[in-house]
Amino acid sequence: MKKGRFVGWLWGFGVVLAAGACRRENLTMPMIPARPPRFEIRYPLNYPANLVGDGTILSIEGALEGAVPVQRPEDVVDRFELIIDGRRVGIFAPSQVVDEAFCTELGLVGCKGWPLLIDVREFGAPGRGKRLVLRAWKGSLMTEVALEFHYDNADLQQKALEFIRTRMVGTNPEKWNPEYRTHRMSDVTIYYKNEIPYYRDLIRRTLEDFVSKWTGLRFIETDREDVRPLIIYPHNGICCGATPKGENPANPYEITLALLSVDKGRLPPKLQLDDLAIIAHETGHAIGLPHTECVNGDHDFMADRCPYSKASGLHLHPYQQMAVKMVYSKPPGYSWR
Ligand SMILES: [Zn+2]
Repeated sequence: MKKGRFVGWLWGFGVVLAAGACRRENLTMPMIPARPPRFEIRYPLNYPANLVGDGTILSIEGALEGAVPVQRPEDVVDRFELIIDGRRVGIFAPSQVVDEAFCTELGLVGCKGWPLLIDVREFGAPGRGKRLVLRAWKGSLMTEVALEFHYDNADLQQKALEFIRTRMVGTNPEKWNPEYRTHRMSDVTIYYKNEIPYYRDLIRRTLEDFVSKWTGLRFIETDREDVRPLIIYPHNGICCGATPKGENPANPYEITLALLSVDKGRLPPKLQLDDLAIIAHETGHAIGLPHTECVNGDHDFMADRCPYSKASGLHLHPYQQMAVKMVYSKPPGYSWR
């Protein structure tokens, strides 16, 4: 179950940047003078959010300052460069990492800039206390911001194991799951049937691109009756949910069918900006992920009742990504004691 779609993050965004951004005199001049791009990194700023391991993705969130809507991101920055271990590992045009439509899609005025989102998949050599440097260039002018992170497989696997033992086996494992066993889908390839035609493109994008990216699992749409452990259907209830319906008689920890419901109030013309987030959240439950705590500034899509404004910045933490990898590397019902 997930609710809530307010824009607290955006207002925070406006307030934080307001001090340096509200320059009316600039707007009345024929040309805005060239200056180094102004931006900041907001997440992840500290341990363990900045802990990564092999095959994980670190989502860096920030904010780029600009006079919206007079300026566009291209007016304030030409490109971003990502540097790890003194080596450039990524170069991005603003259109790749800046969400220009954020304010206009939400119909908000008073934005002082745009959200910045960069997924990092390459971390250099393993080690702790590493530096990731993000540079923004405008002509020959450059601003750089550094972020500390840790690339430590053993530590990340330990964090993932703690998460599996305390959360993925159930909220009170001592009482009802003394064997510390997790539930999971039969396979790392998950077939699904969509019974909401309006949502076909959105669901395909959410499962096959977005959830697949963050979980490493593969989703394939099908109409075959014999292979579809996930059925997405419209209902008359409140919001949405994921319900395990089938289990393997030979292994009660193997989910053979999950029903993912979306309330009819969300169907067109009431499409919501956060529908991708809701479908991703419920699919997360279907594959075995529990809720996480809602932490300010965090856009973990399994956080419960967390204020968020738009799906584009949502992610799973590296420890959650690693937990899914570990659970799906073992048979359903494997004991994590
Ligand atoms: Zn939920």
